[in-house]
Amino acid sequence: MTTIRLHNTKTRTKEVFTPIDPDNVRMYVCGPTVYDRAHLGNARPVLVFDVLYRLLRHVYGADHVTYVRNFTDVDDKINARAATSGRPIGEITEETIGWFLDDMHALGALDPNQMPRATQFIPQMVAMIEDLIAKGHAYEAEGHVLFAVESYKDYGKLSGRTVDDMIAGARVEVAPYKRNPMDFVLWKPSSDDLPGWDSPWGRGRPGWHIECSAMSYELLGESFDIHGGGNDLMFPHHENEIAQSCCAHPEGGFANVWMHNEMLQVEGKKMSKSLGNFFTVHDLLEGHDGQPPVPGEVIRFVMLSTHYRKPMDWTEKKREEAEKTLRKWRELVAGLTVDDAPHPDVLAALADDLNTPLALSALHRIAREEAPQTLLNSARILGLLQGEFESSFQGKTFDAEIEATIEEMIELRKIARENKDFAQADKVRDAFVAAGVTIKDTKDGVSWEVGPDFDPSKLEALK
Ligand code: AMP
Ligand code: ZN
Repeated sequence: MTTIRLHNTKTRTKEVFTPIDPDNVRMYVCGPTVYDRAHLGNARPVLVFDVLYRLLRHVYGADHVTYVRNFTDVDDKINARAATSGRPIGEITEETIGWFLDDMHALGALDPNQMPRATQFIPQMVAMIEDLIAKGHAYEAEGHVLFAVESYKDYGKLSGRTVDDMIAGARVEVAPYKRNPMDFVLWKPSSDDLPGWDSPWGRGRPGWHIECSAMSYELLGESFDIHGGGNDLMFPHHENEIAQSCCAHPEGGFANVWMHNEMLQVEGKKMSKSLGNFFTVHDLLEGHDGQPPVPGEVIRFVMLSTHYRKPMDWTEKKREEAEKTLRKWRELVAGLTVDDAPHPDVLAALADDLNTPLALSALHRIAREEAPQTLLNSARILGLLQGEFESSFQGKTFDAEIEATIEEMIELRKIARENKDFAQADKVRDAFVAAGVTIKDTKDGVSWEVGPDFDPSKLEALK
């Protein structure tokens, strides 16, 4: 059997991975808070742990791995979005979950075995909080329930901080009812306009951290193998998860191996709205700001070209090269189907703390040596060269924004015609002619095509 080595944040070393139960290898990864589209950074943990999931399935058998990734669907950011948009919370979270799954499928990510939502596990969270109070690890104060960090001697061990360091370095919410400024919220009161559930402490809602402790306990038990997420979650989120779980279930060890991916940047800079380099996965897939659409497989390839424990830099150059490579590989494997295990070099690279860049270089070598069947067999474990290639790879170029403008104008023309406003309908037709867009009325509606001298600026003139 392949020996897997994984870097464990808890011990800061690369360790041989030994599952608690090889018949059921269990992994929990913190998922997104669902109020908006996933940005490119959010895709990194999804892809990193997707490759780990594939590797574990390969080594232990597809039916012997349980992967759980949650959706945080109760959160003040969601409440704020509902308040500003005037839309019901359930509608926002439902829509965002749908977007997230569509986007991650486009990147070739397998669905985890379970995707629990926080709102489905409120009674379990309440029970865990009651248990923590009973065991002297939590206390009620002014309708809140707080975890008492001083009651857990290992608090801070994962990220290697002392409580004093944390107080000095963190932006902790100072509240008069906290015994220690680092104490964190397990439960808080909800006003009538906010989502809330009945509890022994009145109508309220859970703090963020308790959901992962409650859901991992329910679905994976008091000890499981791997817990993952971005390294921005190490403190306070994971530190707090450990405190809650280890105090509620001291007989279990919670997660044996903690894995953290480093952050993603764009062209060497932190991705942020203010720097104008912020984009969502959907933006890339659809094409944005005049850029052509990027196939999901290209995004996956670029992401995997950096080791997960190093900062990852998304660049235009990498995107271009990945696209070229994948085109070439797709040609090589055309017409073939997977018929064997991955090449041992690819497997060995992944088994060595998920060394995806090394695995990709092995694929490059295999491709150079003209072994298309081996290339295809080996690409699968990285989630590459599977399924249909996106149509944007067939040389078709289109820009989502331009497409939307054309569709809008067709609609305008239809309305003008229905209103017998022929002057307006003719104006739209003339704009299409000037822009080099051919419109055809067919029995299925209006079809359109852009000609060789297509000039989108002429379309804008009409708006
Ligand atoms: P959030 O919805 O902000 O809780 O994030 C969901 C997941 O995306 C977490 O595992 C984060 O660690 C991860 N994440 C957020 N931003 C980035 C980034 N820039 N690079 C890599 N991972 C990120
Ligand atoms: Zn979590």
